[in-house]
Amino acid sequence: MKWAKPRVYTSITLIVIVLLLIGSGLPPAAASSSSFTPTRGRDYYEARGDIVWEVPMTEKLIALTFDDGPDPEETPLILDLLSQYQAKATFFVLGKKVEQYPELAAREVLEGHEIANHTYTHRYFNRPITREVLNSEITRTDEAILRATGQKPVLFRPPGGYYGQAVVDGAKQAGYKTVLWSWHQDTEDWNRPGTEKIIRKVLTNARNGDIILFHDHVEGKSQTAAALQKILPELSNRGYRFVTVSELMRHKESKPAGN
Ligand SMILES: [Zn+2]
Repeated sequence: MKWAKPRVYTSITLIVIVLLLIGSGLPPAAASSSSFTPTRGRDYYEARGDIVWEVPMTEKLIALTFDDGPDPEETPLILDLLSQYQAKATFFVLGKKVEQYPELAAREVLEGHEIANHTYTHRYFNRPITREVLNSEITRTDEAILRATGQKPVLFRPPGGYYGQAVVDGAKQAGYKTVLWSWHQDTEDWNRPGTEKIIRKVLTNARNGDIILFHDHVEGKSQTAAALQKILPELSNRGYRFVTVSELMRHKESKPAGN
């Protein structure tokens, strides 16, 4: 019976290993019952006005949004293009980048764009985190933006679009409305799919009240500015005006559908 004990331990060890492997292989939503994972769908949050994906309207307005900056190479190029076409956009900035490049954040605001909160470190809320971590991600960014621009932003976009009740609530308590993007306007420019592909995505799908997702920081050589060089004149020719997300939302409030 000398060998019996080790064999029992071995079996238990194996079971534990198997359980750990199963646990780690599950997708985030199933691995956790945390309220940080989306437990309710778009309809629920959209009806309550807790999250904005787009703002359907009769006016020809579109909101261009740029995430993950400011970036010393890409942001100035994009700002120059926006200015050339009298376009106003919304920049969902990272707090740590604003601290690195406060003059770029200041320029965004000075040129009439909206600056918004995209967390401090680009943290994904796709697994359980504490309220403290969420608050810190939001408020550190708040402070960085305030120092750089003198403004308190009102829009929040969780990195990767990962949201849940706790994220929506935490943002709301910090004075924010959560904003995502039109599902038909995810350009995936962060993945550098090719300038033509970005252009085609936006131009084929463009409709009133769209919130288009771009990035003014991309790993590697960005194709975003080159795509904008085609997108901005074409949508202008079609009669679209480019406004900030807050401006877009104001038009929904003042002009109900049918007007
Ligand atoms: Zn991002």
